[in-house]
Amino acid sequence: MKTALITGAARGIGRACTEALAGKGYGIIINYRESEEKALCLKAELESNNTPVLAYKADVTDYFQAKAMIDKTLEIFGRLDIVINNAGASLEKLVQDTSEEEYIKIMDTNVKGVFNITKACVPVMVHNKSGSIVNISSIWGVSGGAAESVYSASKSAVIGFTKALAKELGPSGIRVNCIAPGFILTDMTNKYTQQEKDAFALNTPLCRLGTVSDVAKAAVFLASEESSFITGQVLCVDGGAVI
Ligand code: NAP
Repeated sequence: MKTALITGAARGIGRACTEALAGKGYGIIINYRESEEKALCLKAELESNNTPVLAYKADVTDYFQAKAMIDKTLEIFGRLDIVINNAGASLEKLVQDTSEEEYIKIMDTNVKGVFNITKACVPVMVHNKSGSIVNISSIWGVSGGAAESVYSASKSAVIGFTKALAKELGPSGIRVNCIAPGFILTDMTNKYTQQEKDAFALNTPLCRLGTVSDVAKAAVFLASEESSFITGQVLCVDGGAVI
């Protein structure tokens, strides 16, 4: 059975990707950091549908925790086929109001976290001469978002990392792609008022905000053999917001 590891899998976009991949028959590694209760509930839900699941607490900003999680995955499942680098943190602040600590937290989570998980999983994928890595960026990483310069920079870095790795790992049979979601309704976007959400929807050609399921469907496509000749791409799941 092929296996998929999803970081930040207990809630939001990560949870939807996890449920969608489990529905396609993959064994699942649920990575979580703080949301233990939600992770264990999700594990029970998937296991009740006969999906083998490992739930593993690891902070993606720490390479040794990332490596230990991949080692445990190999011990339990004996293989790792798909990685969804979803864990992320956002920051909405003017650049002059952003502290060094805030900058470091965003870059550590969104860039170093993707690097750590990738560094830890690539040797096993290279050994198997196959694998698919899907990184979750953002439309702000494509177009830049006002008052989100550090977040935008971190998500642009994910795009650069994706494109470079696609070239580096293509000859080893590993595909690396990226999803750039638009405004998706999750805990991350709960801070916005209904008025702000309505304004964003109005400025979106498809006239609505995105759902976690919209992103999960794209993640399953990029993860699976359905996209077998696609690598190094950024798929915007944004209702047309970035054209
Ligand atoms: P969310 O609901 O706030 O969830 C964030 C997830 O990241 C949680 O599962 C959290 O795990 C995990 N996480 C954060 N720091 C971590 C760390 N150091 N180690 C391990 N896990 C960590 O966010 P979301 O909206 O689902 O966003 C998921 C991804 O999509 C992020 O990369 C985000 O930047 C991107 N995105 C979101 C939107 C949007 O509109 N929502 C748009 C574009 C891109 P715990 O709860 O276990 O700590």
